[in-house]
Amino acid sequence: METADTFEVFNPATDELVAQAPACSPEQLDRMVRGADEAFTSWRRDESARRELLRKAADALESHAERLGAIMTAEQGKPLPDSVGEVTRTAGWFRYYADLEVDSVQQRTVDGVFLEVTRQPLGVVAGIVPWNMPVLLIGWKAAPALLAGNTIIIKPSPFTPLTALAVGEIFAEVFPPNVFSVASGPDPLGSQLSAHPLVRKVSFTGSIETGKRVAASASEDLKRITLELGGNDAAIVLDDVEPERFASDLFWAAFKNNGQLCSLIKRLYVPRARVQDFAEAIATVARTARVGDGALEGTQIGPLATRPQWEKIKEFADTAIAQGAVAVTGGKPMEGPGNFFEPTVLINVTDGDRIVDEEQFGPIMPIIGHDGDEDALRRANAGNYGLGGSVWSEDIDRALDLARRFEAGQTAVNHHSRGIRPDMPFGGFKWSGIGVENGAWGYEAYTQLHAVNAPAK
Ligand code: NAD
Repeated sequence: METADTFEVFNPATDELVAQAPACSPEQLDRMVRGADEAFTSWRRDESARRELLRKAADALESHAERLGAIMTAEQGKPLPDSVGEVTRTAGWFRYYADLEVDSVQQRTVDGVFLEVTRQPLGVVAGIVPWNMPVLLIGWKAAPALLAGNTIIIKPSPFTPLTALAVGEIFAEVFPPNVFSVASGPDPLGSQLSAHPLVRKVSFTGSIETGKRVAASASEDLKRITLELGGNDAAIVLDDVEPERFASDLFWAAFKNNGQLCSLIKRLYVPRARVQDFAEAIATVARTARVGDGALEGTQIGPLATRPQWEKIKEFADTAIAQGAVAVTGGKPMEGPGNFFEPTVLINVTDGDRIVDEEQFGPIMPIIGHDGDEDALRRANAGNYGLGGSVWSEDIDRALDLARRFEAGQTAVNHHSRGIRPDMPFGGFKWSGIGVENGAWGYEAYTQLHAVNAPAK
């Protein structure tokens, strides 16, 4: 769609302008939502046709994975193989939902009465996504929403609109008009979309702050919401683990995507007497990680995706160090253009410090001493977050006992978020979210139960 206004998208590795992206006007957004509402009438009718098109969407993503990956790296910064991998992984979500067996119709006759329960789609869904996983999170929302018979409008982050717009072009060849659309533009586009009266459900992934605003605006119209918000995941290492044993896994479970994933280790609790040893072991891995432009071969960690995020990380590190934290490695921005920051391991920090209590969403790992399993669990469960967590031990039963008592949407043993998959629910306790995505549970969140009662024939 042609727009009168555009906005600039920069490469976070080079600070160069990548493109001018279309800025959707309020009138264009309104037309888009009305179009999606009209398309809903026929799209909801034929489930097997929808499944077929979800399969085609998966094929289309796979066949364009290299191109989409290159666009993603240019605007988001992550290493190219990770970008391409994100696209092919997203295809897996479309394929999973294309084949998901859902209990959408129940019929029975009781005492001369015909009873039917069906799952009905809701209508137009707004899928509002952040900049850290520009394609995967589209798949998490669009695949179940479309399977259920809804139409969807995706609103990408203004920092990473280009990949989503390219997905929109590719899907225009797959789905009927107005079934899957992408509206790009600087805010307040997000709030205009989520407040539109014809939008019946808002599925939002982003920060807690914005999530609360989405919930408040949705409440006026009683729109359905799913909120996937921030996390401050704790990892607990038990006293039977030697520092080198999981050093590499612990590092990558915190620094993947440069720390910009909601469910990564954001604070690491290790036995108090071993803090220095664990910090050294993890810092050794950090020093060998290749940080650079994600488009260059061999890069393992790209830049921070946005300038405000880079500024936030610098501020977190500066404040912590000014208050007595010690950077065992890293601690400051890297020279040259781009939003680069050294992978940073901090000790001499504790609960109550901002770097421990809040979500940093970047390449800083605070390591905190604990005084045993129960002490660590109590501290992991403190605070308003409850997205993910992990326990690391040589004794799987002992770790499982602790893992089961996390107040978190997902908890892992001896890894962190590698368990994210289309058939497992993903969501958060407390301020980390409302509802879940993925699996049949994610699909159900895009439906409404409908009970029909009639005289039996
Ligand atoms: P953000 O909240 O700033 O923005 C998210 C999206 O909401 C963007 O598309 C933005 O344009 C839009 N938006 C802004 N104001 C809005 C409003 N009033 N109404 C509707 N939409 C609005 O988040 P971000 O900085 O882009 O992303 C980082 C955050 O996302 C982190 O906190 C991270 O933990 C969280 N996140 C959570 C998950 C999860 O599944 N739980 C996954 C990835 C990221």
